[in-house]
Amino acid sequence: MPLSEFLLSLKDNPYFGAGFGLVGVGAGLAVLRAGSQYGIMAFRRFCMITLEVPSKDKSYQWLLQWIAAHGSKTQHLSAETSFQQLENGSVRTRFDFVPSPGTHFFNYKGNLIKVERSREKQIVDFSTGSPWETVTLTALGRNRQLYSHILDEGERETENSSQAPLEIQILICRLDFETQSGLYSIGSRKMALQKMEGKTIMYTAMGSEWRQFGYPRKRRPIDSVILDRGIAESILSDVREFISNPQWYMDRGIPYRRGYLLYGPPGCGKSSFITALAGELEYSICVLNLSERGLTDDRLNHLLSVAPQQSLILLEDVDAAFVSREEIPQMKAAYEGLSRVTFSGLLNTLDGVASTEARIVFMTTNYLERLDPALIRPGRVDMKVRIDHATEYQVQQMFQRFYPEQPLASSQEFAERVAGEGKRVSMAQVQGYLMFYKSEPHAALQNCHDLWSLYCVR
Ligand code: ADP
Repeated sequence: MPLSEFLLSLKDNPYFGAGFGLVGVGAGLAVLRAGSQYGIMAFRRFCMITLEVPSKDKSYQWLLQWIAAHGSKTQHLSAETSFQQLENGSVRTRFDFVPSPGTHFFNYKGNLIKVERSREKQIVDFSTGSPWETVTLTALGRNRQLYSHILDEGERETENSSQAPLEIQILICRLDFETQSGLYSIGSRKMALQKMEGKTIMYTAMGSEWRQFGYPRKRRPIDSVILDRGIAESILSDVREFISNPQWYMDRGIPYRRGYLLYGPPGCGKSSFITALAGELEYSICVLNLSERGLTDDRLNHLLSVAPQQSLILLEDVDAAFVSREEIPQMKAAYEGLSRVTFSGLLNTLDGVASTEARIVFMTTNYLERLDPALIRPGRVDMKVRIDHATEYQVQQMFQRFYPEQPLASSQEFAERVAGEGKRVSMAQVQGYLMFYKSEPHAALQNCHDLWSLYCVR
């Protein structure tokens, strides 16, 4: 009996009416479905080969770039911007196009390969601050060599394309767009990328990670912070030397890190200089307050080890973290019961900061004498620089900066008059005073004895 007649006869069958028939068909379908699932699983298992690469893996970037360059003709791309610090200290920006999250196909030496790039919404890679991703390649057949060849080619080409052998790379911007549907127009892409260029990014610690603090700030030119002769140059050349010499440290098995301590009275330019230095190096700044409530040794340690690449770590007022709470009873009470960084925790963290990345830690204090010698011994602090009250040279430079059209003699006279008062003055004071006479250089020159009193009134 043909199948259709059989089914029709079932319709009139009383058992079928009672439901047995339906159960039977349902069970049959379930068996078929399970069978096909097993079939697909078996097919995937024995006839397909899959490679999964997480974003943490080094080959992840090579692979994406290689796929974009050779394989996939996808029109759905992501732009990845990397900043490269070259040996000579200059910085290059490079934009790479890689397949955007989703599914793509490409053909490699006659093999059709499916590329699935997936992005986790909940998981973030601490070291880069970017979402956790994986890329999975699937191909027919059982030839593992296929993937080895692709990865080898990707690595080779990435190496060839980088012109500087000792480059330090940071991925700081990721932007998805579709080339045809114009999710982002090229104009807005450029704008988004330009937003980051020429800016200094500040990070602060939030929990166990670094978060960008405010919008990227316009870089402060390094010569806008006027230090005494030669100081800025000596720090800058030391940092540059350090950044460009990872091999030296590697060859000698010395941890690739360098510590700086800027000390001296408040308002003399310690923080401003570090900000300007970061701008000059095209680095970002990670600011950490050691007195912060709830900052434990473990968190400090973790934060320093996951600080974004190409960043200066700034520990401000290091003296305050370990002195004030014990010495001032009210503060001690306020901090009672709160976990805090211990001095030995800080030392351990500074000693433990070791990575292939250049790790640069700046500390500042107004009171050098309050610091424990253990904190500032070489290895933890490699360069100590006093940023002192304004010298005649600095005062003159500041006057010139405010009134560039004035003859040199005026700025010299101003500096001599200020020095003639015989009182110490910070550059913040000089700046504050000159702000009162923004467009009146002569008045500024005449009234300079008011410099101290004006500042006090404010
Ligand atoms: P510090 O960190 O030494 O306490 P800051 O860098 O915070 O001082 O300076 C406070 C303010 O004074 C800033 O607005 C800064 O622009 C100005 N200032 C201080 N020192 C200098 C300097 N050497 N050159 C230019 N501006 C300065």
